[in-house]
Amino acid sequence: MADCSYHPGKDAVGACVNCGKMVCLACRTELQDRVYCQPCANKLFVSKSDVQVSAAPATPVIQSVSGAWWLLPIFFTWLGGLIAWAVTKARDPKKARSMLIWGIVLTFIYGIVITILVVAMFALGFLAANE
Ligand SMILES: [Zn+2]
Ligand SMILES: [Zn+2]
Repeated sequence: MADCSYHPGKDAVGACVNCGKMVCLACRTELQDRVYCQPCANKLFVSKSDVQVSAAPATPVIQSVSGAWWLLPIFFTWLGGLIAWAVTKARDPKKARSMLIWGIVLTFIYGIVITILVVAMFALGFLAANE
């Protein structure tokens, strides 16, 4: 696939019907169902107030992060939180960070619960031995 004439490295999605240069999604301008590059569109149509210039929609789309990632910290505590954070941080940094925090918090909670259980078992065993 050819590169955009204005953005090297970006795949072109079409060619300007006026000058023939390749255009990418970001700089493609559609006017009356024809594809133009941005400079040509400006040059040809900027003076005509009746023409609606509709640039292609901006590419950054916020991708939603699956809620299933929350299960990782629940099952694997801080390690799961770390994995969930690493995988989702590019898409949703806020959610990724809270999953990492969630994993660390769960590590402490599980640690406390296990400590209480172990202490309780020792205490019960001690009581039973003394009877
Ligand atoms: Zn052009
Ligand atoms: Zn471009």
